[in-house]
Amino acid sequence: MNNKFKVLVVDLSQKKASIEYFDQRNNWLGGSGLAAGLFAHFADLKADPFDPSQPIILAIGPLTGYFPMMSKTVLGFQSPYHGQYAETHAGGRSALAIRFTGYDAIVIKGRAERLSCLAISSKSIDIHETPYLQGQDIFKTGKILRRVYPEHSGHRSILRIGPAGENLASFALINVDTYRHFGRLGSGAIMGAKNLKGIVLAGDSHIEFEATQGKEYNKTYDEIYSIITKTKAVHKYHDLGTAQNLIPLNELKALPWRNLQATKDTKIENISGETFAEKLLLRQTACAHCPVGCIHIGLLREKFGPEHEFLYRQVAYDYEPIFAVGSMLGLTQEDYVLTLLEDVERVGLDVISTGVALAWATEALQKGVVSLSQTLVPLEFGQLGPYREAITHLAFKKNDFYAQLAQGTMKAAEKFGGEDFACVLGQEMAGYATGETYFVSQALGFRHSHLDSGAYSFDQEEDSKNISKAINFMLEQERYRCLLNSMVGCLFGRKAYPVENICKALNSLGYSYSKEQLEETAKEIQASRWALKIKTGFDPEQVKIPKRYLEVENWKGKIDPDFLEQLKKAYAQEIKKLSQS
Ligand code: SF4
Repeated sequence: MNNKFKVLVVDLSQKKASIEYFDQRNNWLGGSGLAAGLFAHFADLKADPFDPSQPIILAIGPLTGYFPMMSKTVLGFQSPYHGQYAETHAGGRSALAIRFTGYDAIVIKGRAERLSCLAISSKSIDIHETPYLQGQDIFKTGKILRRVYPEHSGHRSILRIGPAGENLASFALINVDTYRHFGRLGSGAIMGAKNLKGIVLAGDSHIEFEATQGKEYNKTYDEIYSIITKTKAVHKYHDLGTAQNLIPLNELKALPWRNLQATKDTKIENISGETFAEKLLLRQTACAHCPVGCIHIGLLREKFGPEHEFLYRQVAYDYEPIFAVGSMLGLTQEDYVLTLLEDVERVGLDVISTGVALAWATEALQKGVVSLSQTLVPLEFGQLGPYREAITHLAFKKNDFYAQLAQGTMKAAEKFGGEDFACVLGQEMAGYATGETYFVSQALGFRHSHLDSGAYSFDQEEDSKNISKAINFMLEQERYRCLLNSMVGCLFGRKAYPVENICKALNSLGYSYSKEQLEETAKEIQASRWALKIKTGFDPEQVKIPKRYLEVENWKGKIDPDFLEQLKKAYAQEIKKLSQS
């Protein structure tokens, strides 16, 4: 246990690195709090996201490496999508690899002169020019980097971008160890702007452990491990995984279909979690130090020759990706969906934003808002071929239309028309047409993510249109998630990590926190993140919710525009208050 954060600061322009220590352990905790604190310290809050001096920050938490499911890394950055401070989270081996490099966080500033890869271990830092990776896709880049850096396999994490990141698409992602991602809001483009094709993290060291803490630590570890492995708390994530949600949400009329023109379809069985499991599931895998193994890998068999010639590929799937390139694009064949997931992965785009952007483009083409000369391919709901081509056009910004769409669906709609049916809530929507609270929560939420507060579950349980109840739910959930994300735990592990267990786990490692202290600190982290987002340009009172959302009809009936508006106003006021507190 160390009371100071040990932070590696790499300057790509200068080809220099230094170690800095920060003693705000009690204020920042780690992860989300640490990334926000370091961003405020290193960034110029008035600068452009692509300004080379702007940092990207990888941060882990005090429980990383010590407790199960503490398997995530927070990445703090200024988003090219909306220009504001943003956070994205990923697992894979990234968190454990950082822990075993010996750092609590890594800050990357500057811009490499030529396309490069940054390799970090506990003993060395290497900035290696990789012009041969220019334009290479995610898979080839991973393959080459594994050969260039063969050491520490199994303890090593490889982060990389694809062509979309190099081309500065605003929703380009960073791929982590093939099956995980720093997905939303364009962190891949920030890496691209830094001429950084890959980051190799080699966890080649060990962690210090106070032997005197052993007994308490073992007991706490066993208790938490038992909740995860011997109760039903997280079991569902392993079996069918999040894909199990497709049928229930469709039943509730809450699954967006064909650019949210419908919320239910009889063909749901074809792309359900059950169908994926029966027809395509090859194996489940897990992030490092997670006994759950929620990552579902499907087997894609692709014919490539006139005779019986097949290629086999392993492609990860989940609820959100299936919604984005399945129901949202009207595709109702499970292998078509897996094909598009692979295509999106290959070029390094965020799958939710890609699916929703192409759904908007399809409706825009149908309505004559844009023409075939702009989309280049005859986009049509349910047709695989044109979408395959469109994904490449988007990643390579093939023409003015795709260059605009790659900046975000609403930016394209503002230029070409069709804002009313752009399914954008801060960024392209996640797959929940559950009602007013979710729409407001994503539109105004800190990450514009379904994971900010899980408001889709509130919609499913609550029918009262009680504004203060909805606001309290969002704020309290966000606060608790700020705490878990500062550790940095997987959000699927919430039931194993109520505040009491987080407190016990920390104290078993030699920290000294009370539950009240942790709750108070989480509140401060929540406030400081909002302050950063607002200082970098967010105005919650200016957020608009497109007309398409008012047309939604689900199991509760039609969306109530007055309730939606009042809720939006009330939440905006709370966010402003928080940011000033
Ligand atoms: S539950 Fe899934 S996403 Fe979460 S840490 Fe485990 S394997 Fe990773």
